[in-house]
Amino acid sequence: MRFQKIRDDEDIYVAIGGPFPLCNTIVIFSDEIAVIDPGCRMENLRALLREFESDLKDIDVVFLSHIHPDHITHATRINRLSRCRIVANEITAPLFNDKERMKRFLGFHTAHPVRVHWERLVNSAMYGALDEGQIDDVVSDNERYTVGRYELRMMMTPGHLPDHMCIEFVNERFLFAADIDCTEFGPFYGHPNSSINQFKESIDRIIDSEYEFIISSHLWDPIVNNYKSALESYKKQFDIREDLIYMSIIDGADSVEKIIEMPIIYTNTSDIVYLQFEKWMIQHHIRSLEQKGLIISKRGKIRAR
Ligand SMILES: [Zn+2]
Repeated sequence: MRFQKIRDDEDIYVAIGGPFPLCNTIVIFSDEIAVIDPGCRMENLRALLREFESDLKDIDVVFLSHIHPDHITHATRINRLSRCRIVANEITAPLFNDKERMKRFLGFHTAHPVRVHWERLVNSAMYGALDEGQIDDVVSDNERYTVGRYELRMMMTPGHLPDHMCIEFVNERFLFAADIDCTEFGPFYGHPNSSINQFKESIDRIIDSEYEFIISSHLWDPIVNNYKSALESYKKQFDIREDLIYMSIIDGADSVEKIIEMPIIYTNTSDIVYLQFEKWMIQHHIRSLEQKGLIISKRGKIRAR
């Protein structure tokens, strides 16, 4: 299945991501053609557009939920072909307009030893994401944006990254939840400026809202009907990981390096980029354990209280 209609009575589709990094793309056919997060496999997007006798050059507007390369992958390429408008929030926009700034935002400053490996990963699996481009319309939290007969509401939901934004279909009562993605892997907060507490608050805001369903960026079957219970299980991953990290510290691991000798989050890979994400995620948990008064962390050395 390459694309999926979201609801019988609407011309809104999800173009399914494809292999790694499997990032789904929303496509709206109304008076205009709008695309949210052009990170899916290009063939899937083109196959869907062909159903409407269209191609990439006919896209009018592209929305970006946040700056992660898997979500912005084809934005600049589509813009080159179609001259479409690109819309992003006020945190994402300057990062998209300056990819060096984006790399720093994600923790990969010039001298970072993993930067070159991360760039290689992006250029092989998300080719185009590091191309320089320009945002046309900058939107803020709660701002509404009309696409044909659809009204979209921007909803800043930080934590995954500070610029993470969900997009609500106001009258249709569903939410594109982006990387609040309900995957089995659980939440990703693998950058220095990610935040566990903000992520939890953002998840709770969605749980407390009344939608018909939410749409995930990273599920093969992207429509999540029972989203409240799915998000409760998703949120539990924070505590499960934190317990494992705490156990590891009790067992004598006295530094982040010692903890990641036996990875807790990325258990199936020794790839240096993922181990860096693991390291940053563990550092967030160490701060959390410290705030809870369970451990003491001083000059890189950690011990249980
Ligand atoms: Zn992301």
